[in-house]
Amino acid sequence: MKIRVLTLFPKMFECLNESIMGRAIKRGLLDFKAVDIRNYSADKHMKCDDTPYGGGAGMVMTAQPIYDCISDIDPKHEFVRIYMSPKGERLSDKLCRSLATVDNILLLCGHYEGVDQRVLDLCIDREISIGDYVLSGGELAAMVVVDSVSRFVDGVLGSGESHEDESFSNGMLEYPQYTRPPEFMGLKVPDVLLNGNHKEIDKFRKAKSAELTEKLRPDLIGRNAETE
Ligand code: SAH
Repeated sequence: MKIRVLTLFPKMFECLNESIMGRAIKRGLLDFKAVDIRNYSADKHMKCDDTPYGGGAGMVMTAQPIYDCISDIDPKHEFVRIYMSPKGERLSDKLCRSLATVDNILLLCGHYEGVDQRVLDLCIDREISIGDYVLSGGELAAMVVVDSVSRFVDGVLGSGESHEDESFSNGMLEYPQYTRPPEFMGLKVPDVLLNGNHKEIDKFRKAKSAELTEKLRPDLIGRNAETE
């Protein structure tokens, strides 16, 4: 999967070189690059923002550098072009799975008050939000998309890791996890997990998963993970 993130702050994406994402990039499963929009500014001071028409607080990212950057990175419109935006479709497990089937993804990160509407109208296919709150920039939101989507790309999770039992994968929250030692600060690992009876363990986990979902996210119950 090829991902290009367009941003004024490409260094923020260095953290994707760690852990599971870093391994996927090194192995070539993810062809990831953060592209600096500023390099495309036609302004002699490389300016990429200006005050909003009509007045109001803050600055708006100008259309020209973004338009030229997208035209350079994706001249034939082979990427699904996504603008990270609080106004967009809310990211979900289902949306992550569907984006994981796309070969080329371009993520545009706004900053300040946002982006001149005209470049969105001209270039963008869809908008995605990571939740009903406002971030200072689309960079953290884009990282959330890169991480949550690439987990569904074949080979990104190693053989010991799986997304199939995870929270939301079947419309439920995951059961609690324990590891060594069997007792910590007086708290014991449930006996059933120590006895090696996989049928019993499976039953225990399913029951805990149902109990937790009922308690913490009753809204998930009855929802079909495939259709939501
Ligand atoms: N003025 C805008 C918010 C701008 S926030 C409004 O009120 O709608 C600056 C940038 O952060 C946006 O351009 C967008 O790219 C990003 N951003 C902020 N909140 C976001 C969210 N919940 N999901 C995805 N991107 C977000």
